[in-house]
Amino acid sequence: MTLRQLFKKLLPFAKPYKNLIFYTLILTLVGSFAAQINAFVLRFTVDSISDLMVAKKPLSEGMNLLLIISAVLLGKEIVYVGVQFGQKFFGEKLRILIARDLSQSVVERILTYRMAFFTSTENESGKLQTRIDWGISGLTRMVQNFFIAVLPLFANAAIALIVMFTANFYVGLVGLCIVPIYFIISQRQAKKLGGFRRRMRTYRETKNNQIINIIESINVIKSFVREPIEAEKQRRIQYDMTENQLQTRKTSFMFDSLKSFVEQIGVVIIIILTAYLVLSDQMTIGAIMFHILLFNNVTAPIRQLHRIYDDMNDALIYSESFFNILEAEHEVEKSGTYIPKNLLGKLELRNVSFTYPNGNQALHNVSFTVHPDKITALVGLSGAGKSTVVNLLDKFYEPTQGQIFIDGVDIQEYDTDYLRQHIGLVLQKNHIFNGSIAENILYGNTEASMDDVIDAAKKAYIHEQILELPNGYDSEASQLSGGQQQRIAIARMFIKNPPIIFLDEPTANLDAIATEQVKKSLDAIKVNRTVIIISHSISQIIDAEHIVVLEKGKLVEDGTHEQLLMQKGEYFNIFNAMASSLNIDKIARSPLS
Ligand code: ADP
Repeated sequence: MTLRQLFKKLLPFAKPYKNLIFYTLILTLVGSFAAQINAFVLRFTVDSISDLMVAKKPLSEGMNLLLIISAVLLGKEIVYVGVQFGQKFFGEKLRILIARDLSQSVVERILTYRMAFFTSTENESGKLQTRIDWGISGLTRMVQNFFIAVLPLFANAAIALIVMFTANFYVGLVGLCIVPIYFIISQRQAKKLGGFRRRMRTYRETKNNQIINIIESINVIKSFVREPIEAEKQRRIQYDMTENQLQTRKTSFMFDSLKSFVEQIGVVIIIILTAYLVLSDQMTIGAIMFHILLFNNVTAPIRQLHRIYDDMNDALIYSESFFNILEAEHEVEKSGTYIPKNLLGKLELRNVSFTYPNGNQALHNVSFTVHPDKITALVGLSGAGKSTVVNLLDKFYEPTQGQIFIDGVDIQEYDTDYLRQHIGLVLQKNHIFNGSIAENILYGNTEASMDDVIDAAKKAYIHEQILELPNGYDSEASQLSGGQQQRIAIARMFIKNPPIIFLDEPTANLDAIATEQVKKSLDAIKVNRTVIIISHSISQIIDAEHIVVLEKGKLVEDGTHEQLLMQKGEYFNIFNAMASSLNIDKIARSPLS
């Protein structure tokens, strides 16, 4: 991305604050003129004092002059303080406001993206967040730099150069000639330091990752007595980092000295030139100081050029991936427009094949029908494609081939929000949000009343336990046990009351007691709905009226429990394995009540 493109993309975010930008620009202009006043005052002072000395005027006249000069300088300083404050504050305000808008729009935007966006490897775990954070901080730093550093300093330099030229063409020329030399040195400096900075960033990331690794695997490290190895890994990074830091400083100081040297040469040339012009009567003596001060105004911004250049480069690098996230048009979830009067829940897969964005083919030409108001179990070993079927039925992904029909209408034609409002999904681990139990249940239907919440909790067999908590429904939901959280999720489903429910291993993470408790609420939610259940629990599979068996993404068997057992195929094998893992013989011989 070029700087121009970047500005174009930023423009819509800056537009709402055009008044703020306008005031900042005015302040910049006022500030730039005010910055030249010192040079004029000094020239006037030197010239007036030398006149007074030549004319041998009394000291009192000199004092008057000094009073006037002090008043002018003080007045200018007061104005300048105000201007600088305004400029910094407005620049900062602009940065904060634009950062807020960028963050909000990127969050609102990614919420509209399809599932594939979130599950792709390039967006996994913290990567997306890092790219958003760095993008925003890079962009806003650039905005702020532009108004606080670049614009005022360069306006100042340009005006100083114009004043120099107006006073004397040749002196102006010297000032102008130094600029490109400075520019080249600064650019080299930025390029060299850029490499160091990038390396530094990688070191920092690796170092932080390693520390997180240590914390996460401390029990393994300790049990293998591998503390020295971990310490050594850190030491290596620390040493490399120190070396890189020293190199950065060395390079930085070298270039700074070079720039100082060039600047001093400029000052010397200006002194010689102006002295010559003074001696040849083309200028007054005050012009020497006048031009030196102006020259200082010209070089000041360029002295900081490498830093600004660095920040711009960073902004360009990070903002590119940021805008890629913000403008990923192809990632926006598609929706049809079809909204039926009511949803019966006949789900039909016809020759469906599906490949995940990373190339994993999860389903091969799968066809089966799920009948309304019945419980269908999807059975198969891990990785057989069961969850993928549920993902497709929830419109999280689109089939690569084939079609899915709901009540005879292609799923793609359905309004996605309508469909999801009528489908309930209970997963292995349901997300419990920060907040109270009541809030977590209400997530299923934000318009429901507290009575509805209690009713739902009762149906999910969790009401009594909630009442036993010190704060009842206002207790923090994240403090609940796994089994309780699962029942909160089922209560959430009761309050949503969808005609279709997918249960994807709802008891996989629970211990035996919790499973038993959740099973009661699961049995309750299954009544009078179309249910697809994925489970490794024998009791939940037996309860199903229809069983679909998948193996490596292919449908291998489809029928009732009894029919499939008779076939002595994949289902028979899986069922047998489950049953023998339960050690039924011994259970049968145990004295249970
Ligand atoms: P099951 O639910 O039967 O255990 P899944 O439907 O989860 O199986 O997975 C089927 C196949 O798809 C597996 O090979 C799995 O690795 C792959 N898979 C599942 N989810 C993703 C994903 N988000 N991206 C890529 N591949 C996936």
